[in-house]
Amino acid sequence: MDSPFHDAKAKLGQAAKILKLSDDVRGVLEYPQRTILVSVPVKMDNGHLQLFKGYRVQYSNARGPYKGGLRFHHEVDLEEVKALAFLMAIKTAVVGIPMGGGKGGVQVNPKELSRGELQRLTRAFAHEIENFVGPQIDVPAPDVNTTPEIMGWIMDEYSKHAGKKTPGVITGKPVKQGGSLGRDTATAQGGMYVLEELAKLKKIKPDETSVVIQGFGNAGRTFAEIADKQGYKVIGVSDSRDGIVDTSGSGLDIKKIGRIKDKTRSVGNAAGSNVKKVSNAKLLETKCDILVVAALGGVITKKNANQIKSKVVMELANGPISPEADAILKKKKVTVLPDVLTNAGGVTVSYFEWYQNVKKQRWSASQVDRKLKKTMQTSFSEVWKLHIKHKVDLRTACFVLAVKRLAEAVKKKRR
Ligand code: NAD
Repeated sequence: MDSPFHDAKAKLGQAAKILKLSDDVRGVLEYPQRTILVSVPVKMDNGHLQLFKGYRVQYSNARGPYKGGLRFHHEVDLEEVKALAFLMAIKTAVVGIPMGGGKGGVQVNPKELSRGELQRLTRAFAHEIENFVGPQIDVPAPDVNTTPEIMGWIMDEYSKHAGKKTPGVITGKPVKQGGSLGRDTATAQGGMYVLEELAKLKKIKPDETSVVIQGFGNAGRTFAEIADKQGYKVIGVSDSRDGIVDTSGSGLDIKKIGRIKDKTRSVGNAAGSNVKKVSNAKLLETKCDILVVAALGGVITKKNANQIKSKVVMELANGPISPEADAILKKKKVTVLPDVLTNAGGVTVSYFEWYQNVKKQRWSASQVDRKLKKTMQTSFSEVWKLHIKHKVDLRTACFVLAVKRLAEAVKKKRR
């Protein structure tokens, strides 16, 4: 299997060809600007010193300060972080916000740490990267297993280093510490704004449309709630333990499932009459109009792509469809709404948070929502035009739009 960075570069190559990009500019975009590897020693509760590996890849700042999440996961490695940092540069360019692309993380299973250990690890990592980040340099954010509270610790550590309170160094903070209203729902809401635009073009009517959602966390659950409110028939959901599908034909009771999930930590406990338990693999193969993948990367591959029965697949997760599966879905005439557009509501509101911090402003929830809606609608329309003009799928159209913007910025920056 090719590495995620190799796959990302293949998409860059495809866009570069369509844009007839010169080799020198393409060469610049094929390589991260800066790669930071740090060792993070942490005093554990048992008194021993444990060493963790930390990364920050600053892929491109041609369009603005590096922007992208920090993940705490035992499988974090340089290849993965490089690919994700590149995809952040693409994502910020697709939605046209003046930020670049970066990503980072620590190789750790945070579930094995006590709260004290987690805080010491976070602060030690923040200390190691403090000379390389800052509101006008690199602005990290939460990602897998990192929370608003962790962002607050990083802001605090950086502020000590800078000698003044600096909320603009990081986004995804708790609202009380300078976080933006609307950040918690931004990814799902942004995805819904994209779907609404597609619905206008394809004449999709919510009350006649069935939706299946994999993942019931921040992105998936919020999307289920929004879709349900808008009248879509959500007929299947899942979390890491189980999936459930509606057998009544009227759709699942999303509010009730949310309450059961909060109480028992599993949507599977909502199974009963008219609600059947299924595996996550089977859930993806459920007959529906729209399949939303909102859990993990790499869930639709060449092994199961032929079994997908929906007309639209929305990528709310990052990288849920492998390149081979993408080709199979294209052949089956499934419309794929790609991650670099569909889940970009999250980074868009992160940018709004940073903007409010550096300009010392505070926007209301409705101001944030209005600006998010406009950003997602404009981006969709630009991507759609390129999809028609170049006769390419929406993912390729996103790359064409982003690579064009990145290339223009790289050319302006050249000494
Ligand atoms: P989360 O941790 O809140 O939720 C993840 C959900 O996926 C949980 O319900 C979990 O039970 C489920 N899950 C885990 N393993 C699974 C498995 N093997 N099969 C099925 N379900 C499984 O995370 P999130 O913030 O909702 O992020 C989900 C995806 O969206 C990730 O790929 C993330 O990178 C992407 N994303 C999130 C945001 C955001 O703002 N939250 C922004 C951009 C992209």
